Amino acid sequence: MIQQTDSQSTGLQTAKPRRRVLVVGGVAGGASCAARLRRLDESVEIVIFDRGPYVSFANCGLPYYVGNVISDESRLLVASREMFHERFNIEVHTETEVTSIDRSACAITVRDLRTGETRTEPYDVLVLSPGAAPIRPPLPGVDLPGVFAVRTIPDSRRIRSWIAERSAKTAVVVGGGFIGLEMVENLIHRELAVTVLEKLPQLMPPLDPEMAVPLGEHLASKGVQLHLGDGLARIEERDGGSLIVVAESGARLFADLVILAIGVRLV
Ligand SMILES: Cc1cc2nc3c(=O)[nH]c(=O)nc-3n(C[C@H](O)[C@H](O)[C@H](O)COP(=O)(O)OP(=O)(O)OC[C@H]3O[C@@H](n4cnc5c(N)ncnc54)[C@H](O)[C@@H]3O)c2cc1C
Repeated sequence: MIQQTDSQSTGLQTAKPRRRVLVVGGVAGGASCAARLRRLDESVEIVIFDRGPYVSFANCGLPYYVGNVISDESRLLVASREMFHERFNIEVHTETEVTSIDRSACAITVRDLRTGETRTEPYDVLVLSPGAAPIRPPLPGVDLPGVFAVRTIPDSRRIRSWIAERSAKTAVVVGGGFIGLEMVENLIHRELAVTVLEKLPQLMPPLDPEMAVPLGEHLASKGVQLHLGDGLARIEERDGGSLIVVAESGARLFADLVILAIGVRLV
C-alpha cells in the first residue's frame, strides 16, 4: 500500500514554501512590474533592489524640478519604500546593487552600498529592469565639474545647487532631442541664456525637418541660440570654474553649466 503523505490524507496543512520573486531596478519598469504581480498573486514574496536612493520616482519631472516648475522635491516621488511595504507587502532595498547572477543556483549577489557588505539572495523568479544610463562620450572635459546628465533625483538636485551657488547665467545643452529640449525650456524658465549644440542639422531628429523648423523658430524667439549641424569635440575649464564647449567646427561656446542630453546606453 502506498503511504499517503499529502495534507488531505493526513488532515495536516503542509506549509507550501512561498515563491520568491526578486526585481532588479525599482523605477518605472521594476516598480510597476512588482505592483502588478502583487495584484495578481498575494502569496508570493516580492523584493525590489535598486542601487539608487529612491524607487518609483518620476524621471519625467526632473527637468521641471530643475526649472522650479516643480519646487517640492517630494512631488517627484510616486511611491516610497514604506508605501510599498504597507500597501503592497513588497520589500524594497535601496542603495543596494545587484552585482552578479548565478543562474544555476538561482541566486543573486547584492552589495549594500552604504556598508559595503555583500550577501546572497535566492530567487524562484528574477525580473531584470535595470533601465539605461546617460551616454557620456569619451571626450576631453566631459567629467568636469559643471557638466551634468539628467537621469536621477540626485542629478537634478546637483544641477539646482550648481545654478544657485554659482548664480549661473549661461548654459549649453548638448543634444536637441526630447530631454535636451525639456532642459532648454526649464533653464530659460530659470532665466539662463541657453545655447543648444546639436550634431544633426535640425532639432528633434525623429521629426521631419518641416516640423522641426517651427520648433527652432519658437526657441529662437525665446532667445535660445541654436548651433546645429555641429558636434561636441571637448569641454574646457576657464579660470573661475566656468566652461567652454568646443564644437567639432572649432566654435567655442561659453557656459556656466553644460547639460549632456545625447541619449542613453544599456547598463
Ligand atoms: C529627464 C527625463 C525625462 C523623461 N521624460 C519622459 C516623458 O516625458 N515621457 C516618457 O514616456 N518617458 C520619459 N522619460 C523616460 C522614462 O523615464 C524611462 O523610459 C523610464 O524611466 C524607464 O524605466 P525603467 O524602469 O526601464 O528604467 P530606469 O528608470 O532607468 O530604472 C532602472 C533602475 O534600475 C537601477 N539599477 C540598474 N542596475 C542595477 C543593479 N545592478 N542593481 C540595482 N539596481 C540597478 C537603476 O539605478 C535605476 O534606478 C524621461 C527620462 C528622463 C531621464
